[in-house]
Amino acid sequence: MNPADKAPFSNTLLREKRQLSSNRMPSGNNGIPRTTTMTDSRFRIRSENFEPAYMDLFRSGELYRRSRLGLRHLEKCRVCPRDCDVNRLSNEWALCKTGRYARVSSHFPHFGEEDCLRGTRGSGTIFFSMCNLKCVFCQNYDISQHHDGIEVTPEELANMMMALQSGGCHNINFVTPEHVVPQILEALPMAVQMGLRIPLVYNTGAFDSMESLALMDGMIDIYMPDFKYWTSEDSAKYLKATRYPEVARQVIREMHRQVGPLTFDENGLAKRGVLVRHLVMPDALENTKAIMRFLSDELSPDTFVNVMDQYRPAGKVTPERFPTLARRTTAEEHQQAVAITKEAGLTRHLPVESFA
Ligand code: SF4
Repeated sequence: MNPADKAPFSNTLLREKRQLSSNRMPSGNNGIPRTTTMTDSRFRIRSENFEPAYMDLFRSGELYRRSRLGLRHLEKCRVCPRDCDVNRLSNEWALCKTGRYARVSSHFPHFGEEDCLRGTRGSGTIFFSMCNLKCVFCQNYDISQHHDGIEVTPEELANMMMALQSGGCHNINFVTPEHVVPQILEALPMAVQMGLRIPLVYNTGAFDSMESLALMDGMIDIYMPDFKYWTSEDSAKYLKATRYPEVARQVIREMHRQVGPLTFDENGLAKRGVLVRHLVMPDALENTKAIMRFLSDELSPDTFVNVMDQYRPAGKVTPERFPTLARRTTAEEHQQAVAITKEAGLTRHLPVESFA
């Protein structure tokens, strides 16, 4: 789970606090954020021409076919690259501790996401409980590792989407969804039938399976992978997933193939494309450099990246167990990470320094 996705103790509390991201962009006259990248006509989509990707799949009947296919993936679970082979339809579970039905920790309009997602009325966030990565530094340990939250039927999940849309949210933002792709697919046609018409954001740690990506092809509008570590040594130590780097590279390439670089409407709201997050870690600028080079060289220099500075020791991190991670990153480290991003040729990034 991403540090930018800090969950509230309660929805009310979050609404009251409206915690702001450190990567906030200045607002335009209409109160909606904008950056120089949003004035580039190549990355513009007019809101009257926009329709969520899933509408085509819904009209053709393909969304129902994918929904049925997704459930079959639960039978011998390979929904994520852990390949546990358990029968989740019979409510067995493994590392993700999630059986037949998804567990939801909370759903609410999130005002702490990137401005292009939160806009003026919030990003309609649905936090799924549990996770398929075991990041030792997780800042949402209660949600991602403990059996928190409530089990939801597909109807209940569809109703949550509709409640967020009715509340004015600009998008539906699925947080930590890697292990519940079939359950999301099962709920989506119901939500569309009820009138869902806002974009879907897939907010992932990037430890996804290619099978799940195939199920979501043409369904997700905005992929938001968090690319954490470049080497298998770091991934084994800090994520308990030695294969993480190769999996992340493969799925982020596929996400880019499906939806391309991030596009915005005339109000500066993200509509379609890939938004990559990268959390700068202590003493890990080589890690940042390798990831930025990959994004620029193998995806596109137009890839939109959020270089995040909010790392703090949490989860299992203690000076004794993980000495390298036992401090916050410095402002200088973050500045260097932004400079590395630019040197890699990536010009569309957060934080931004100048505005149109
Ligand atoms: S989704 Fe859960 S049960 Fe399925 S492969 Fe991943 S960790 Fe294992």
